[in-house]
Amino acid sequence: MKRFLGIFITGLLLLTLCGCDSGAVRVQTATDVVMGTVVTIKLYTTESEDLTGELLALLGRLEEDELSRRLPSSEVYRLNSSEHGREQQVSEGLGKTLERCAKIGTASGGALDITMGAVVQLWDIDHYADCPEEFMRPEKSEIAQALSTCGWEKISLSESAQSITLEPNTVLDLGAVGKGIALDRILAYLEGKPAVSGAVISVGGSVLTYGCKPDNSAWRIGITDPFDTSDVCGYLLLEGTKCVSTSGNYERYVEVDGVHYHHILDPKTGEPVQNGLASVTIVSSDGFLSDALSTACYVTGEEKGLKLTERYGCQAMFVSEDGLLRMTEGFRQLFEPK
Ligand code: AMP
Ligand code: MG
Repeated sequence: MKRFLGIFITGLLLLTLCGCDSGAVRVQTATDVVMGTVVTIKLYTTESEDLTGELLALLGRLEEDELSRRLPSSEVYRLNSSEHGREQQVSEGLGKTLERCAKIGTASGGALDITMGAVVQLWDIDHYADCPEEFMRPEKSEIAQALSTCGWEKISLSESAQSITLEPNTVLDLGAVGKGIALDRILAYLEGKPAVSGAVISVGGSVLTYGCKPDNSAWRIGITDPFDTSDVCGYLLLEGTKCVSTSGNYERYVEVDGVHYHHILDPKTGEPVQNGLASVTIVSSDGFLSDALSTACYVTGEEKGLKLTERYGCQAMFVSEDGLLRMTEGFRQLFEPK
């Protein structure tokens, strides 16, 4: 009888704890390296079926089949190595992505530029961040040569975004939007799983919050402190489904002779952006937007970036190299400083 009472009380407790659903809520967690970055998953679900493996596999496929610039199996790789100057078919998913990138590219005055692959390859900060002793600063002439293959005019998308033509030597690089697209794919997956009442998923610098926690409290998302990446500069308190992306000069970089070379490149100069910013964080209900805008706003700087985020109905925080935190009013309402 005592045992029965114990089970009954535990059941009641779980029902009370679970604000979103009436079943017993289980927590599923996983951490792995996918898409070249650390992915952490926490799901609240009323079913015992483990979903974390499927989510990790979904991200792996996104990289392998669509977005990777390095894996020969991906669509982006196929386009980059196809005969340039000739129209190439693109999948519906990639077509939509390219279309959205083009719109933000234009709206940001060219700050977001996914045709910068040749310049990204030339600096290869992703590689040198792991082995700085090998770093060689590209020559001005090499940068100029690589830059001559970049720009939105170097690609033409067909009306319905079913095909693309690349100018000779133009290389696509979707590194600025990949993690945001990952969040959108995860969101679509979770929306098809009614047993999942809440989730928080981080793909590198981008985080998705979904649904609610069992106790109905807000999701508390730490924003990395650019000056001490083991710490946070504050927390976002978020309700429901939100996407948070941060672009920062601390993510992938190499420091040589006191110069900090990082992975976000200025399409005007072909060099790492130097505009006094250390990081930009964007909150949106759309993963792609949060990621695309965090990179674009990092490049444009605060003034133009604020206009851009306003135009897209997103919230933003700019952290300057001298440690100042500036944010939109909407961001301030969600932000808890450290
Ligand atoms: P993120 O961390 O989202 O800001 O994206 C940075 C990545 O996007 C880099 O590692 C490059 O692959 C790529 N990238 C760098 N600069 C730009 C740019 N101005 N526009 C588009 N992609 C860029
Ligand atoms: Mg980005």
